[in-house]
Amino acid sequence: MTVSTANGRVLIVGATGFIGQFLVEASLDAGRPTYVLVRPSCVNHSKNKVAKALQDRGAILLHGLANDKELMEKLLKEHQIEIVISAVGGDKILDQLSLVEAIKAAGTVKRFLPSEFGHDVDRADPVEPGLTMYKEKRQVRQLTETLAIPYTYICCNSIASWPYYDNRHPSEVIPPLDQFQIYGDGSVKAYFVAGTDIGKFTMKTVDDIRTVNKSVHFRPACNLYNINELATLWEKKIGRTLPRVTVTENDLLSAAAENRIPQSIVASFTHDIFIKGCQVNFSIDGRNEIEVSSLYPNEPFRTLDDCFNDFLVKMKDENMKQSNGIPAPKPVVETLAITATCA
Ligand code: NDP
Repeated sequence: MTVSTANGRVLIVGATGFIGQFLVEASLDAGRPTYVLVRPSCVNHSKNKVAKALQDRGAILLHGLANDKELMEKLLKEHQIEIVISAVGGDKILDQLSLVEAIKAAGTVKRFLPSEFGHDVDRADPVEPGLTMYKEKRQVRQLTETLAIPYTYICCNSIASWPYYDNRHPSEVIPPLDQFQIYGDGSVKAYFVAGTDIGKFTMKTVDDIRTVNKSVHFRPACNLYNINELATLWEKKIGRTLPRVTVTENDLLSAAAENRIPQSIVASFTHDIFIKGCQVNFSIDGRNEIEVSSLYPNEPFRTLDDCFNDFLVKMKDENMKQSNGIPAPKPVVETLAITATCA
């Protein structure tokens, strides 16, 4: 069952970012007219290349800042945008307050998906500094609801990867090849979702009447793992066992307390997930929440097993390049590159 926005014009804010790129790909794959907001001051060459690649795939580039209310209102009206999806990064969450006001003023938008893509921020309660990000996400929710803008909150849990506690984009890094760092006793489970599935299922919700004003939780049964099981899965792929060292609850709390941004934010989420069990310690039965598999029971998720196969291929490619004398683009394990397991 879908509402009238089917094939409605989609604007993706934060399209050149990590989660944003999955959303744009999925929107284009779904055949939707896809507009992407690109920051005008694009001094970052790699971001320019990403924007150009999205344009080559069929996305329509608009230039502007989400926090420029007048411009956003103008763009939304001019292009008759019906669905706005934001994936601005954790450091720019409050930039969305002006965007929400622009959405209200423009009057064209039938659904807004703010930058969530992690846990249910009204429910989860991480230690600082992760808590500050959640408080900001809660502020965006509050304004959206106060202005009566129809919304969907995507709570997609962790991205499929080894959940490094100091890297906010862990799926860009191959799982460990030297040792595993096991959080606590390694028995607390979490849900792992491929980036492509975050994009695919998000795009399914945007004009589904069943998801209006709902939090949509991603809990694929096939991808519920604890970190000990994750380690065993990776050992099977690489054909050898690795030493396991324990990262205690206190270690994670100390890393969070260092307040290095963004690494400490990821440490606080890692503590919430793998020590406190924030992804699994509640059932989805509230009036305003729904599990995505119950909406689309015939639509498969990529398994974590498949995603780990991808890492294996990537690892072999990098090894091949190195043995051919071609320098590998990045170190295999990029410590402290950026952060956040989940948000
Ligand atoms: P990134 O930092 O990778 O990307 C942020 C994007 O927002 C970039 O495209 C950036 O533009 C753009 N942007 C920032 N400020 C503005 C602005 N004022 N106007 C327009 N565009 C702007 O973000 P992530 O993909 O890491 O995070 C997106 C969301 O996903 C967050 O809510 C985060 O918490 C969550 N997340 C969830 C994960 C999970 O495992 N579940 C993992 C990582 C993130 P530019 O390219 O010019 O910098």
